[in-house]
Amino acid sequence: MEVEDWSINQILEKTKLTKEQIEEKIKKKIEEFPALTREAAIRSVATDNGVILIRRDYKVSDITEELNHLNLRCKIVRKFEAKEVNLRGGKSKVMNLMVGDETGQIRVVIWDTNRIAEIEKDFREGDEILIINAYSKFSSFSNNFEINIGANTLLKLIAHKETHAEADNYARISQITEENKSYKVRGFITRIFTNNTFIIRCSICGKRVDEKCDIHGDKALSKTLMISAVIDDGLSSTKVTFFDRVAEKFLSLSKEGDLRQKLNDISFGLYQVEVEAVAKSFNGILSLTARDVKPVDYSVDSSKGET
Ligand SMILES: [Zn+2]
Repeated sequence: MEVEDWSINQILEKTKLTKEQIEEKIKKKIEEFPALTREAAIRSVATDNGVILIRRDYKVSDITEELNHLNLRCKIVRKFEAKEVNLRGGKSKVMNLMVGDETGQIRVVIWDTNRIAEIEKDFREGDEILIINAYSKFSSFSNNFEINIGANTLLKLIAHKETHAEADNYARISQITEENKSYKVRGFITRIFTNNTFIIRCSICGKRVDEKCDIHGDKALSKTLMISAVIDDGLSSTKVTFFDRVAEKFLSLSKEGDLRQKLNDISFGLYQVEVEAVAKSFNGILSLTARDVKPVDYSVDSSKGET
């Protein structure tokens, strides 16, 4: 299935919109922002309607175009030795894997030295793995599409992930089904919504207001930090919102200088966090409100898999 059809089907499934209404919204979005590609416009329409578009069911045979945020469950068919290569002045390393599923096989190229070290140490041929947040690229050398793994990609041994999640009482994001219940989840921050990082509250009644409180006017307005993000555990994702002190703690994950730089840094998908949160329903969609957030070192995570 084409990515575009898949995206539109996701919006159809998860909202009450008809196909015509979706097309109309995409058209309006492109009129409003002429620089947007159709794909970006579809993503934006999805987000506007509470649908997070991360496809999880890619099969090798679907990888026939350049895709970002590619997730694939596959087996390592062949693990090649890492090679030294000379790149514009400096030496670097590259490693190839051949992976496959029931639909075919594809080459995986790994440039990131940390990922190469991880694969050399933890992964064997025959292992079933989850590749999260990779991208595909056409290679004129092999005349085929390849999966590229960079610093932002996470590799997981599937068996390892399951035993680890159970041992530490982490909830799978897909198991978040009860409103007002507390959950502890662990995952990568794959997106931050940067359009609205502050809300205004009336400190007398505590209500969220646009410009002033209907009852108390603008006497006691206070600005509160609010950061909404997407957390992804490799199998599913959800929106999570951080307020006040928890938002500050979340921002302190990044060593960058100001708010914009921190948000930009964290949104790259490099940060794995543990979040304690409560599930809240907005317009019928459950999302998390964080009570606490802590960074997780995923190098510790992957070394625990050897049992
Ligand atoms: Zn008020």
